[in-house]
Amino acid sequence: MVLKGKTLKDSVTFEGIGIHTGEVSKISVHPSSRKGIFFYKDGIEIPALHRFVVNTLASTDLGKDGVVIKTVEHLMATFYLLKIDSAVVEFRRGNEIPITDGSAKVFYEEFKRVGFEALDHYQTLFVIKEEFEIRPNGNFLRVKPFEGEKFAFEGYFPYIGLKRVEYLGTPTEALIGARTFCRMEDIPSLWIASLGKGGNPVNTLPLSYDLKYLVYSAEPAYHKLLDLIGDIYLIGGRVVGEIFSFKGNHRLNHQLRDYLIKKCKREEFVSAKAI
Ligand code: ZN
Repeated sequence: MVLKGKTLKDSVTFEGIGIHTGEVSKISVHPSSRKGIFFYKDGIEIPALHRFVVNTLASTDLGKDGVVIKTVEHLMATFYLLKIDSAVVEFRRGNEIPITDGSAKVFYEEFKRVGFEALDHYQTLFVIKEEFEIRPNGNFLRVKPFEGEKFAFEGYFPYIGLKRVEYLGTPTEALIGARTFCRMEDIPSLWIASLGKGGNPVNTLPLSYDLKYLVYSAEPAYHKLLDLIGDIYLIGGRVVGEIFSFKGNHRLNHQLRDYLIKKCKREEFVSAKAI
């Protein structure tokens, strides 16, 4: 697998509430020929890389020099699904990526609308060469060698049951459109932790006995798969291999990134001749 660098053709601006801060944010995503995704806030540049992760409780947040930006996972997943490896994300207001409708759909459609530009460099690949597993307590993440890219998620959801979903290199409507969800019983603890302040029935699917708001039958599993893809992209390249998450979360994804960075064969092509 070899892939040229890719960026947007034009800038796109998103404005809206942040799911955790409850405050309005405004970001502009700009084309860039420099390899990598970079966030900018208050004059500070924060690369979208694992070593800048400062929080994994309920969202994945990055930080540097006292500046923290929150909830990067859905935007990062959109970049991954569209194979974008170069962009600049400028914070113009607030410090959280707008939640939009709770899924990747708004970012995905806007990026497709402005179009893409191929770049001269080659994308970084992390090739999984051996099987390994992280199993802290009942939930686990397992990786295996695989020709191509495969992400899978399996988990049990209240009122919905056990669901398994996967991504095999082509994003489906359900994966792009799966919204953030919330178990009713988790709401008090989120509020106690000062989180979820921007959650509402438009951007968050409530899991209750009444499933009339469910758009896809496995919507929460697809959303967890989206989070997994967005989180893993913070290794700084694409995965060649299989990643399976059983009831994983941002914290576990963080541990896996650590492992992938240390254990994978990192392939950096400098020219087509290097293949
Ligand atoms: Zn999410």
